[in-house]
Amino acid sequence: MSSRDLVLMTAPLREDFTIPCHELGPAAGNPAVSFVSGLHGDEINGIYILARLADFLTAVEGGGYPKLRLAQRVLIIPAVNVLGTNTLRRAWPFDQSDQNRMFPGNQMGETTQRIAYTVLEATKKSAYRVDLHSSNLYFEELPQVRLYDPTPEERETAHLFGLSAIMERSVSPVFTTTLMYSWKYWPGQSFLLQIGQAGSIQLPHCQQVFRGLVSFLGRIGVLEGVEVAEADQEALYFTRECSVRIYADRAGMFVSDKSLGGWVSKGQELGYIYDSFNGNVRTRVTAPVAGLLTGIRRQPMLFEGDLLMRICTRTP
Ligand SMILES: [Zn+2]
Repeated sequence: MSSRDLVLMTAPLREDFTIPCHELGPAAGNPAVSFVSGLHGDEINGIYILARLADFLTAVEGGGYPKLRLAQRVLIIPAVNVLGTNTLRRAWPFDQSDQNRMFPGNQMGETTQRIAYTVLEATKKSAYRVDLHSSNLYFEELPQVRLYDPTPEERETAHLFGLSAIMERSVSPVFTTTLMYSWKYWPGQSFLLQIGQAGSIQLPHCQQVFRGLVSFLGRIGVLEGVEVAEADQEALYFTRECSVRIYADRAGMFVSDKSLGGWVSKGQELGYIYDSFNGNVRTRVTAPVAGLLTGIRRQPMLFEGDLLMRICTRTP
């Protein structure tokens, strides 16, 4: 059990800074599981979940849960973009670069490239690698597992997180500098969890994902003694073709009383676009298809063409 500094960086003035990580469980070998969050500094849900997970596993190691035992090593890096987290910024504060566009990184490069190199080196040999993200400041996503050109093993393992939706995507041929893209070169399984909205903590989402990660660790045999409920809800599997987006047909103020994870029927009323000056209803937003509501805009001020909602259908 230890916490250490994964990276030590010097700053232009005053104190140096570090990116701390937790190493838990038996010390020998590579970590069986690596968890990463905070590549984007304003995605607080993942940072909170991993910090709480580190606290929980530290307590397990300290004997606080006599029935549980950490059988294999776990690495947790809660906040990679540590300066962005300190300032609630998505990007790296000095040069506004996106830390998740810096992989595979470079040991001799600039700060964000060196950070990327170190994070990849620390995590790439794990059998299971999990990167936690949120949507942006405007949009809330149902907690979901995202798979990128998955192997059959990854498709099966994705169900072990106990989340209600699994989304399959292709690895982007454009964004080849993400952590996920670099991980895919290595043996082992890689997962991205997309959780809620950036900028704040949505506690119910975090609690669901925290429970999901504990049961995941139990099911893969890393955390022994976890009682896994048989009756866990079955995750629904969606490809990109199952995803239907609703866009704003005009500017205004978007208000909806819907919450994520509910099933909607075709034609059902989902919200309104109001004129933000006189309050008149400009558009009644209705569901174009029946399906699961997996994304919803939470920032109300709209331009025409802004994304309002996403519905996933059972079949394409
Ligand atoms: Zn992110």
